[in-house]
Amino acid sequence: MIERLSLLDQSVDSLEGWLNEAGEPAYRSRQILKWVDQLQPIDSMSDLPAPLRELLKEKFTDEYIDTSECIESKDEGTNRFLFRLKDGEAVESVQIGAPEDYTACISTQVGCGLRCSFCASGKFGLVRNLSPGEIVGQILSLRKVISQRHGVDGWPRHIVYMGMGEPFQNYRATMESIRRLIDPQGINFGVRRITVSTVGLVPEIYRFAEEDLQVGLAVSLHAPNSDLRKSIMPIEEVYPLSRLFPACEKYIEKTGRRLTFEYILLKDINDGPKEAKKLVEIFKSWKLVHFNLIRYNPIGMTKLRPPSPPQAKAFLHRLREGGLHVTLRQSPGKKINAACGQLRGLEYEKHGVRPEPAEVEG
Ligand code: SF4
Repeated sequence: MIERLSLLDQSVDSLEGWLNEAGEPAYRSRQILKWVDQLQPIDSMSDLPAPLRELLKEKFTDEYIDTSECIESKDEGTNRFLFRLKDGEAVESVQIGAPEDYTACISTQVGCGLRCSFCASGKFGLVRNLSPGEIVGQILSLRKVISQRHGVDGWPRHIVYMGMGEPFQNYRATMESIRRLIDPQGINFGVRRITVSTVGLVPEIYRFAEEDLQVGLAVSLHAPNSDLRKSIMPIEEVYPLSRLFPACEKYIEKTGRRLTFEYILLKDINDGPKEAKKLVEIFKSWKLVHFNLIRYNPIGMTKLRPPSPPQAKAFLHRLREGGLHVTLRQSPGKKINAACGQLRGLEYEKHGVRPEPAEVEG
């Protein structure tokens, strides 16, 4: 039996090509995608002729992403969703903030192969890349669930590519998903309200700078020197700070956009006066950079701990006194295991399954 393609993964162009072969007019492509964006089954696409709906069903599947599990943490304003994919894998997406004004944090891979020491996703290794449809589908699914539950339109205010996986290791699907989200005749999401976060894949930062898209970029820094960063993030062995910083400067120069450095505060590791002083030394002459300090959210699989709130504030003040633009935020969703990859990790524990790490092309 021929495997049917996912409707979620179709673009305007791919559908137009198929319609053309089927002797149908090209404008049907937009009609179909309007239904897909609402996660509607083929049978309910009421503006398509019945024979075309039957043809669609032969070629494509309308099995969209499912919400299989949702844990809420109302007091911290965060909902974490575990979405079930067609092949049985699970992916996490997070609603941060109130239903009418939230940030959607979405994943680009099932698991992650980069093994940052503080991260739950990295502990399970990389299983596979998500397709563009599976990335966009997380937003569509969040929207559907949130609007049904809260009677709001359900669209997020901001979208951040900061969930499971490294977006730049799945570059093509990440970019295709962004183009789908911002398509003025489709979902039409504001490009400036999207941020992609990377662990620091240098070639892709240069490539991203050339995309001519006003999408924000956040880079995980977590240490001011190479030796310390290596002990926290193995990627430093491949793309050291000496290569990362010129790539970041190029991005800022090319796009004129502010770049955010993410810095997770780890008690007695990267949160002392020495590290603050070094950050100020490096960045005081940089324009258009912002530091986002995050108190570590323990994942229960490492001995890493967050600094106390006063220690975290002391670090913030040291950077501010040095003239850097900086904010401090609490890692959201502590009560629902909201460090990235944790919900999926809990599921593996529950079912006694752990995926083997796999090699996946970027
Ligand atoms: S922090 Fe990001 S890049 Fe690092 S292991 Fe986790 S998901 Fe992968």
